[in-house]
Amino acid sequence: MFLTITTTHHPATDLGYLLHKHPAKLQSFALAFGQAHVFYPEASDERCTAALLLEIDPISLVRGRGATLDQYVNDRPYVASSFLSVAIAEVFRSALAGNSKERAAVVDQPLPLRATIAALPCRGGDELLERLFVPLGYAVAAESQALDPRFPEWGESPYRVMTLTGAVRLRDLLTHLYVLIPVLDNEKHYYVGDDEVEKLLRRGEGWLAAHPERDLIARRYLKYQRSLTDEALSRLVPDESAAPDSVADQHADEEEAERRISLNEQRIGAVVAAIKGSGARRVLDLGCGEGRLLVALLKNTEATEIVGVDVAHGALARARERLRLDRLPPRQAARITLLQGALTYRDERLVGFDAAAVVEVIEHLDPPRLAAFERVLFDHARPTTVALTTPNADYNVRWPSLRAGRFRHRDHRFEWSRAEFGSWAERVAATHGYGVRFLPIGPEDPEVGPPTQMAVFTRDDA
Ligand code: SAH
Repeated sequence: MFLTITTTHHPATDLGYLLHKHPAKLQSFALAFGQAHVFYPEASDERCTAALLLEIDPISLVRGRGATLDQYVNDRPYVASSFLSVAIAEVFRSALAGNSKERAAVVDQPLPLRATIAALPCRGGDELLERLFVPLGYAVAAESQALDPRFPEWGESPYRVMTLTGAVRLRDLLTHLYVLIPVLDNEKHYYVGDDEVEKLLRRGEGWLAAHPERDLIARRYLKYQRSLTDEALSRLVPDESAAPDSVADQHADEEEAERRISLNEQRIGAVVAAIKGSGARRVLDLGCGEGRLLVALLKNTEATEIVGVDVAHGALARARERLRLDRLPPRQAARITLLQGALTYRDERLVGFDAAAVVEVIEHLDPPRLAAFERVLFDHARPTTVALTTPNADYNVRWPSLRAGRFRHRDHRFEWSRAEFGSWAERVAATHGYGVRFLPIGPEDPEVGPPTQMAVFTRDDA
């Protein structure tokens, strides 16, 4: 990600004082998700340009998150997104706040400024750039580029090189970019929480309430969380309720982003609810991976014994870190055990539990191993309740980035339609003396169902 800010204010090198970054130095900053560098390609009294280069560590984006295909292979490391906003807020914190001891008089002065952002997503079309930036006093230019100049038939990249020019205060330019880059990208990198409303209102002070695209900005910034958007809008303009959706808002692309929000959280929520509902005290998490469900079980259930099992040592080590097992108070730590083991071999340690979660695991097993797993779990371990989730292949047509016939993750051996999963689960239940019911996880599409499907098995004699 690359942002440059140029001024022709005289002396132009005042930019260094305003940004609190010396034009003669290359400075680097470690951020949670990568590395930011600030340097000046040019610095004279006539013209001065500061550049912010953001390098994302793609592994840090995936670590500790779900392992769906779109989280491994995506555009996140390269395109301007909310990561750039976070970098602006951290690296140019003082400039954003309008602090400058050395150039106090210049801080509140509109300066001739030009900002260029490379690889800016522009979901909603180029005209959206104008609708967002022109009312704030900028002239906007958007340049598109061939995906690969050697293959013109591939067409143009969906990303733009955007240049804004205007006479504005530097702090305003930074604030506008901070809020509007994620709005253009329309895909936040972290879960939207209540404090996002505060951030939006704080950063939007003085300009957002009067912006003609106020509603679109609030809705996209808050990632379509209806209740948050309503709260933000009512606090911006107390006498008006949220306006109806505008045309750009109905763009199919955006709906997809909305649907993808927090599928992982929803999956964990659904499994925890099923396990809590069964009243289980002794709970297994089979194929626990990096332990996200374990953390939720520890926090949100009364379970006295929670056992995570995985075949991968690396995953168990990360689960131990995530749980902070070494630092938990002894009574909490005593509730959790991590076991290394393969789910395809009978294991006495798995016998006698009230419930087992099997979350996004079976699709990693080849058919002969799946049959072995079935015997190990339903014939030998026999927990009272089993909550088992797997992708719903019917839903794959709704991921535009997933090519037809492809799986969501390269290690998946199969992905089942609702009918295939249904007949497998019914047969397993009937064979081993269980009843089964099916629950959707994630927003249900009228034609293709939910993105994730869950079966909850209950032992007949329970
Ligand atoms: N339940 C976790 C992880 C899902 S990924 C989550 O929802 O985030 C699938 C996990 O199953 C991986 O951690 C993998 O190591 C584990 N796994 C795959 N085959 C296994 C087997 N035969 N025995 C035990 N664990 C297995």
